[in-house]
Amino acid sequence: MKNPSNNFLDDVIHILKRRYHVVKYKDEPLHVLFTTLLSQRTRDEITHEASKKLFKKFKKIDDFINADVKEIEETIRPVGFYRIKAKRIKEIAKILKERYNGKVPREREVLINLPGVGKKTADCVLCFGYGVATIPVDVHVAVVAKRLGIVDEKDGYEKIKEKIEALVKEKDKKLVNFLFVEFGKEICRTSKPKCEMCPIKRFCRYVN
Ligand code: SF4
Repeated sequence: MKNPSNNFLDDVIHILKRRYHVVKYKDEPLHVLFTTLLSQRTRDEITHEASKKLFKKFKKIDDFINADVKEIEETIRPVGFYRIKAKRIKEIAKILKERYNGKVPREREVLINLPGVGKKTADCVLCFGYGVATIPVDVHVAVVAKRLGIVDEKDGYEKIKEKIEALVKEKDKKLVNFLFVEFGKEICRTSKPKCEMCPIKRFCRYVN
């Protein structure tokens, strides 16, 4: 069954907003950039701990540039691929200093060209660092969107992003990632979703 109306997503977002209070979704762009980099193939708790240690030790862009890469490695352990990530953090810091006056660029295409930065990381920087109305697509966003029938199984990153963004009001775009991730972690889990307690079950194609 196709979801018939375009604005059912407004109802979904409204329900999820009531359930998951958006306290804070903005941070320093550099913090978002390096934290998202650390989060690749790493559990949330480990990412948060490593990010906290990293920014406690290295406060400015020059601190990352002047640090021995081994020191960064030790600080971010045990995130996955910590050696590669430490190298990338240092490389990115140098590029930001040399080409962008020490600032994180605000252009998606420029961000994507930084070492180790993909579309999702770039979109996270824009959304959570610069408050841009855009939707980073991670596994939870993709799974929820597929189950709601907003996107097709075969759709890739750009298609998923484009289709969701076309249906969401401008003011809600920057909340979608946060809401779908919280919902995906608590209820609409990638495996064994808890459909019996789902507050948006009536909109779901997966069960209807
Ligand atoms: S009914 Fe189940 S699969 Fe559908 S959105 Fe809710 S939790 Fe996800």
